[in-house]
Amino acid sequence: CAKDQGRNTYHYFKPEMDVHALERLMLENALRRAIERDELVLHYQPQVAAGDSRLLGCEALVRWQHPELGMLQPVQFIAVAEESGLIVPLGDWVLDAACRQLAQWQAQGRDLVMAVNISALQFCQSGFVDSVRRILAATGADPRKLELELTESALMQPTPEVLARMNALCELGIRLALDDFGTGYSSLAYLKRLPICRLKLDRSFVKDVPDDLEDVAIAMATLSLARDLGMDVVAEGVENEIQRAFLAERGCPVMQGYLFSRPLPAAELQRWIDAWSGATA
Ligand code: C2E
Ligand code: MG
Ligand code: MG
Ligand code: MG
Repeated sequence: CAKDQGRNTYHYFKPEMDVHALERLMLENALRRAIERDELVLHYQPQVAAGDSRLLGCEALVRWQHPELGMLQPVQFIAVAEESGLIVPLGDWVLDAACRQLAQWQAQGRDLVMAVNISALQFCQSGFVDSVRRILAATGADPRKLELELTESALMQPTPEVLARMNALCELGIRLALDDFGTGYSSLAYLKRLPICRLKLDRSFVKDVPDDLEDVAIAMATLSLARDLGMDVVAEGVENEIQRAFLAERGCPVMQGYLFSRPLPAAELQRWIDAWSGATA
């Protein structure tokens, strides 16, 4: 982690700005207002056990319900959020909303894990662990049911500070997962030093199994590395039965992808869960 970053001021138009800079500025200011006006929503994508297809939990994925443009996807605004520092308040909003949903599931007697994406910039704020603590206290969510998905960029230099921060989260009972595994540049040697429970095999490696032999090699290497290090693996982007069967046969314990469900709004997820538990009971 570098020093605390993240700015919290509106930026203004300057005459020398080109049209792209102007568009970004408008997007940035609109996003800032969107966070203040609660225009963000979470969708939830199921994660299921490879063995018996039991629902284990969900990943929370943010969307922006724009008053004129409709539902915007992360690809349309996360980069601007990262570059402007808005990912920090956005990430706090997401964590709070996800923990509220988690507490609601607990109150309904549903034993599910909530996975939340944490950006590197957000993780590197010196107040990050405190804000997680504050949100857990405010929502009453069970930290043992919360999983934070970090990317390799957040952990590229596992300084003592990064390690201490990860350990503090683990001491709260939170589980840490490494998202988009295989797409970053972190050293494998770090994996043994970091308190990570789970690797998320990036969907770019899942897409063409079993036909692409290089992807097969990467998927199998990830599975065996995780097994030897005592970690769990989630395959992302499982879209068809061939991919599912191939990965399950090779010991991948958890699956996530359109084969099971797209990310759904909370109410639709509720209906999905009812239908799914009926079908797999
Ligand atoms: P991610 O964390 O790797 O999330 C998985 C992405 O893969 C999601 O895209 C999900 O909808 C998509 N996906 C899941 N299953 C399939 C499948 O079977 N096929 C295909 N083609 N795609 C699938 P989404 O929701 O558009 O999010 C994209 C990325 O945006 C996320 O990737 C994550 O990096 C980022 N993101 C989303 N929500 C948040 C958030 O709350 N905070 C932060 N910091 N980043 C977020
Ligand atoms: Mg993720
Ligand atoms: Mg991912
Ligand atoms: Mg991804």
